[in-house]
Amino acid sequence: MSRRMLVVGNWKMNGLRAQLADVEAIGAVAAEHPAVEVGLCLPATLITAAADKAGVAFIGAQDCHQKANGAHTGCLSAAMLKEAGATQVIVGHSERRTDQHESSADVAAKALAAKAEGLQVILCLGESLETRDAGEALPFVLNQLAESLPQGAAADWLSIAYEPIWAIGTGRIPTMEQIAEMHGGIRGKLAELAGAEVAAGMRVLYGGSVNAENAAEIFALEDVDGGLVGGASLTAAKFGPVIAAAS
Ligand code: PEP
Repeated sequence: MSRRMLVVGNWKMNGLRAQLADVEAIGAVAAEHPAVEVGLCLPATLITAAADKAGVAFIGAQDCHQKANGAHTGCLSAAMLKEAGATQVIVGHSERRTDQHESSADVAAKALAAKAEGLQVILCLGESLETRDAGEALPFVLNQLAESLPQGAAADWLSIAYEPIWAIGTGRIPTMEQIAEMHGGIRGKLAELAGAEVAAGMRVLYGGSVNAENAAEIFALEDVDGGLVGGASLTAAKFGPVIAAAS
């Protein structure tokens, strides 16, 4: 089954209105590569303004609360993000699993809350360096997938992002063999959990220090359907070559 490449920037806690020019420039690059679905998951404060500037690129959010509303100071619901202009949302990023102590059950609930509002979801998984060094990366990530995968997972609203924690923002990446092994393992586990058809259609992204130099080699791997990109997504000069590598 052919899967459209998906390349998503995660701006994390970066970006003020001055950076809307970068959003516009990235949207222009995206228009040059229609074979690739391109998006930017931005700080919530920029979503509405960015949605007007992004052209063919979609604008997404970096998290949503699992509840529709209520006494959750500082949190944003999926409906709020959708109303602001987001069409996709990241859930389960390792920085939130660590900093906000989000469990895999929380992540699955957030994914379902987003789906209920019609948002597409990018669900993140990944092991620590200790787990990798202990030779436990594959079983750890597959277990995290089993615990985080929402009920009714389907390729038309959910993508998976494998992001080894030790590769995020460090400039280190796994070997191509390690990425291939993990992505193949994730697809096999998806088949077991959600059925062969869902597994064949679902996009599995790689994330962790993707940049202009390494993107083409990573994206050429059979079970890699694009990337979730942090630092190299902040400007069109850096993100453009990554998008082009997926094209
Ligand atoms: C991320 O945080 O999702 C990420 C992949 O970051 P970076 O590309 O900077 O490693």
